[in-house]
Amino acid sequence: MSLVLDILKRVQSVIPTPADLHTPNLSSLESEKVAECLESTFVSSVGAFTNKVEEELCKITKSPFAIVTSTGTSALHLSLHALGVGTGDLVLVPNMTFVATANAVLYTGAKPLFIDIETESLGVCPLKLADFLKKECSVKNDLCVHNKSNAAIKALCVVHVFGFAAKLSELLELCKKYKIHLVEDSAESLGSYYKKQHTGTLGTLGTLSFNGNKIATAGGGGAILCSDPKLAQKIKHLSTTAKIVPADKVSFSHDVMGFNYRMPNLNAALLYAQLLRLPEFLEKKKLLHKKYLAAFSGCEFAELLTSHEENSANYWLNTLILKPAYQKHQKELLTAFIDAKIQARPPWDLMNTLAYLKESPRAADLSTAESMRERIINLPSSSQQKTL
Ligand SMILES: *Cc1c(COP(=O)(O)O)cnc(C)c1O
Repeated sequence: MSLVLDILKRVQSVIPTPADLHTPNLSSLESEKVAECLESTFVSSVGAFTNKVEEELCKITKSPFAIVTSTGTSALHLSLHALGVGTGDLVLVPNMTFVATANAVLYTGAKPLFIDIETESLGVCPLKLADFLKKECSVKNDLCVHNKSNAAIKALCVVHVFGFAAKLSELLELCKKYKIHLVEDSAESLGSYYKKQHTGTLGTLGTLSFNGNKIATAGGGGAILCSDPKLAQKIKHLSTTAKIVPADKVSFSHDVMGFNYRMPNLNAALLYAQLLRLPEFLEKKKLLHKKYLAAFSGCEFAELLTSHEENSANYWLNTLILKPAYQKHQKELLTAFIDAKIQARPPWDLMNTLAYLKESPRAADLSTAESMRERIINLPSSSQQKTL
């Protein structure tokens, strides 16, 4: 059987068509909570649901603190800003990620420096990072300096791609050695664990996204996970325009440049319902992944990416990887999926190939990301597939 027919048949054995890549899973609970919010008239930046969502996120992730934000992108931007990343600095970013990771670095005035990924989790490759740091950087006065540009490398943004936890132990060790903050872009990994710890809680800071395409949605929204009480307080303050209210409570002022980044209560109401239903979403996603795994067992052309006990994935997006010999068929396969009304997609264009990022510094070897860009296909992964 041809590669295209074989793979198409296996996907069709799992999901009915037409199939979207990922759609929000909404029920009457979401309507109830949103209606409750409307009735309260607290629809904006202050309200009970934002606090409830923060409590719920702490419960789910076991993070001591959670601060909700307007988007996952603003969560990333604010995290980097709060850690002192600014003009002239560098932030290490994987070359295969959603563009928001790199954009958040640019918003601070810093530049992203692209690092290669590995094939097991599709996250930053610890071996290649170690090689880069050893050959091209040095630690001076407790700062990691990029020798060529003399710029400080203030942070590494690790991304848990498609819900697969990156190799955090090794990456954390390198960051400690080289005095770099580790920020976990966990936008795609709510419900994913690394060695039994929730993603986003191992680095200095972790960020989440609740955009419409993520496992749980607020319509739009994000959050920052933090274990340091002082840093958490600073982030909350910065996210609410750095407003200070004096003891007399008759006036208010602002002590530093803040951001209007707090999640509106109306979005938090929707998200609160979604978070209560998260166990159900995770269970269904696990089931869907098992079905795909069974369907692709023995396939000679491609393999489904799966996770191990050490890094249990939320299976946000099921990820098919063409064997190297067949990568030239990716485009043909994607076209066949469109014709069959199956919404599948390739990974993002690599960061170093985007026109406005072409001048950004990069590690010399980005070969794994380059190969994976040609071999990955994400399969429909909604948690409300009729057959689940
Ligand atoms: C979705 C996503 C973001 C951005 O989140 P928004 O809420 O859409 O701003 C950042 N990084 C990754 C890896 C994402 O998938």
